[in-house]
Amino acid sequence: MRKMLRPECPDWLAENQSRWTQTYCQRREQNPSANFAWPQHEGRKINHNLQQLLGESTDGHCSYCDGGFPLGSASRDTIDHFKPKEAYCTEAFTWENLYLACDCCQQVKSNRYSDNLLRPDLLDFDFSSYFQFNYRNGHLEPNPLADEEKQQQAIETIRLLGLNEHERPWARLSELNKFTCLSMDKQRELLGTFNYRFLMEMELQDQ
Ligand SMILES: [Zn+2]
Repeated sequence: MRKMLRPECPDWLAENQSRWTQTYCQRREQNPSANFAWPQHEGRKINHNLQQLLGESTDGHCSYCDGGFPLGSASRDTIDHFKPKEAYCTEAFTWENLYLACDCCQQVKSNRYSDNLLRPDLLDFDFSSYFQFNYRNGHLEPNPLADEEKQQQAIETIRLLGLNEHERPWARLSELNKFTCLSMDKQRELLGTFNYRFLMEMELQDQ
C-alpha cells in the first residue's frame, strides 16, 4: 500500500450521488439480493469516469497493493467500495468510499470490511509507519516499532486484502530484484512503471 492523494470529488458525482444512492438503497430494500449496476452520466457508465480519474492519482496502480500496473491491461481495473455497498448502501456513491483496485485485491477483499482496514489516502499514511518488508520471503508484516493500534491495522489490512497470499510475495521480490539491477538514473526515471513503488522508494531513500 502506497500513499495516495485523492483528487477533488468531481462535480458530476457531487450533483448526482444522492439520487443514485437513493435509487440503489430503495432497490436493495425491495430486493436484498438486487445486483448493483453503475449508472450512466452523459451516456457513459460512471465507473469508467472513476477509473480514469482515480487512475491519474495512482498512475495506473492499484490503490491497495500498488500492483497491477498498468491497470486496464496488466490487470482489469475495477472500482472497489471500501465499505461494501451491500452492507453500506448509503456509501455506494460516496467519493471517499471509492478506490481503484486490481482484480486480485477486489476479489480477495470482496464484501469484507473492518474498521481497522487502512486507507491509502489517510492524511498521515506512510508505508513504513505501519508495515515492514521481509526481504527473505517477500511478505508484508506489521512494523514492530509501531504502536499496538497501528500494528493491528496493518495485520487486518494484510489479511483482508490478501497481501501475502497467492504469488504476491514472490512478485514483490521479483519486481524489487528487477529494480535493483538498474542504474540509479534509470531507477529514478522508471520508478513509476514499477509495481509496489513503496519498496522502490525505500531503496531510493537508502541510497
Ligand atoms: Zn491490488
